[in-house]
Amino acid sequence: MSDDITRRDFLNGALVASGGVLLGPISPLQILQARAQSLGPDDWTGYGGIGDYRNSNGNTWEVLLAGHQIRDHAFDRLPPEIVETGETYDCVVVGGGISGLAAALIFQRLAGKNKTCLVLDNHPIFGGEAKRNEFLVDGQKLVAHQGSAFYPIPYPHSFIARFYESIGLENPRLEYQTWTSHPSDPEMPLSRTPYLANGPTSGFYFGAKFGQQPGIWLVDPFGKKLEGAPLSPQAKTELLKWAQAGDSNDDKWRPRIPGDAISRRLDSITLEQYLMEKYGISRETVRNFLSPVEGGGYGLGADALSGYTAYAADMLHPLDISDESGAQMFPDGNSGFARLIVKTLLPQAIAGPNTLEAVGRGAVNFEALDSSREATRIRLQSTAVWVKHEGDPAKSDFVDIVYTRSAKPYRVKARSVVMAGGSWTTRHIVRDLAPEQRAAFSEFYRSPCMMANIAVRNWRFLYKMGISGGQWFEGLGNYVQVRKLGTCGANAPTIGPDSPTVLTLKVLYSYPGMSTEDQGHRGRAEMISVPFRDYERQIREQFSEMFSGAGFLAGRDIAGIILNRWGHAYLSPAPGFFFGKEGKTAPGELLRAAPFGRIAFANTDLTGVMDHRYSILEANRAVGQLLDQVLTG
Ligand SMILES: Cc1cc2nc3c(=O)[nH]c(=O)nc-3n(C[C@H](O)[C@H](O)[C@H](O)COP(=O)(O)OP(=O)(O)OC[C@H]3O[C@@H](n4cnc5c(N)ncnc54)[C@H](O)[C@@H]3O)c2cc1C
Repeated sequence: MSDDITRRDFLNGALVASGGVLLGPISPLQILQARAQSLGPDDWTGYGGIGDYRNSNGNTWEVLLAGHQIRDHAFDRLPPEIVETGETYDCVVVGGGISGLAAALIFQRLAGKNKTCLVLDNHPIFGGEAKRNEFLVDGQKLVAHQGSAFYPIPYPHSFIARFYESIGLENPRLEYQTWTSHPSDPEMPLSRTPYLANGPTSGFYFGAKFGQQPGIWLVDPFGKKLEGAPLSPQAKTELLKWAQAGDSNDDKWRPRIPGDAISRRLDSITLEQYLMEKYGISRETVRNFLSPVEGGGYGLGADALSGYTAYAADMLHPLDISDESGAQMFPDGNSGFARLIVKTLLPQAIAGPNTLEAVGRGAVNFEALDSSREATRIRLQSTAVWVKHEGDPAKSDFVDIVYTRSAKPYRVKARSVVMAGGSWTTRHIVRDLAPEQRAAFSEFYRSPCMMANIAVRNWRFLYKMGISGGQWFEGLGNYVQVRKLGTCGANAPTIGPDSPTVLTLKVLYSYPGMSTEDQGHRGRAEMISVPFRDYERQIREQFSEMFSGAGFLAGRDIAGIILNRWGHAYLSPAPGFFFGKEGKTAPGELLRAAPFGRIAFANTDLTGVMDHRYSILEANRAVGQLLDQVLTG
């Protein structure tokens, strides 16, 4: 790999080398190594912001390297010089995202404080996909989510509501910033989440792909019935059909209970087929305009996903999801939950009292996370590479866990284990999995996503156009949305067009027509191979193209960009994932039904739905299985 290989040449070379079939023999690790030779990790990571999360934007370079070493069999045989820590825990939890942290808390509560627990996580800070970025913009500290963003209001006596309450979230309806501006600037309604809110203050952008140079914005596209949009009459008719259908024929499509005939039929077709049939629209319209936004919560376009994904999250029965009163979000997204759980587990680990405000703002005391004085410890920058029962899983008393930290391997022992890191690593590191469990894991495909947080000094350019968010159909990402922040942690109690804010660009990598698995491989290769400065340039150019007509100047208005690259962001369930194919047990069901020896599986991806509530529910089930069926002493 010579230094002068450009990204495009390298990638194309890789594709050619494998006969055009994705990456073939070229692994993401090799791409990273080539990148490291020519650039170095800093050029890949880019700016990380300020504060406790500054070295942990997305999956870090070290996490990627360690992950791909596992995948490429570097630890299939253990190195001889393992450091024996001499530690034995009642429970070791692999993965310090919401699921792993919840598992540790539930274990502590149910098993009692004299039982010991160790959480291993590979990142420099806990939270997994629920982490935050912090910027300092003109003296104001801004926070934004790196991945997991919003939560809906749960039923008040539900398990999730009780869990929230038990970590300090007694009232899940948060207070939000109120409007402030010059009297000549009338209030613009703002969303609480970064997800696109279609409505009168939203817009569609049409650029070169639609023959528009310079591009044009259509404000309130559906209110205007797409009049003025440079689209074919067919595309307009179909988009309007989709937008205006509301719940009209939802009865025919909405499952009553998971697993009923409607669910199974949905799971036998793709989300694309569902959209085409339900709304009477063409594949072309789905692919050109609805993908990957419809299905975006599952990482890929509608062509690759099970039709059941249209309803799967609703089966969690939120009490209220409407943006008017339902959708809620901490300023840093669901990172707020990770912090609340850690504060409850280890009160010294986050400075200040146990209030929403203090836990949101307090500094992390990293030493307190892994203290020998505590029954529960959280060990960061530690990648589990080997998890195996001592002897026959059905009879053994212990599980061995080997993890690497600063490239050195360490061993701990556990009486029980919760694997909460996700299918993408669990399948490789649990060395003695039974064949049926391996087969089940082979049906879990995870797809990449890059969340670019763009701190802007103000969003007057959007306000001037009469929008607080907009969508486009070419270039990087698909939409941005200004949001008002929860006052528990916001930089200011009010927001207006001159307030600094963070716009989040979600970049998905979908290649309609390819298999779900291949789309994931190809997307990862693409996301991994682009240096920070190239993405930064693309974002600046794209924003300039779309917004300069309204006075936006990239050099003046963008205060900072952080890229959060998630190599295995989303579980992308293909048809058959939820209820099984040809009468066989669904893969998630098989892994959730019972512990495997002394190991139980958690993480939200087991359910096929990426949602922090499932992270918690799965943690509860996994710990329950260990306590009910495994731990005897
Ligand atoms: C872009 C994006 C947006 C999202 N938005 C929302 C949203 O709005 N609302 C919502 O509810 N959910 C959302 N989600 C879903 C999100 O996955 C869950 O909310 C939740 O954060 C998942 O927690 P988890 O613990 O199950 O998994 P993770 O957060 O993935 O945690 C697993 C942790 O284990 C680590 N790990 C893995 N293998 C190992 C190993 N071998 N050794 C050590 N550590 C390991 C991982 O690196 C990670 O830190 C979003 C996800 C993404 C990617």
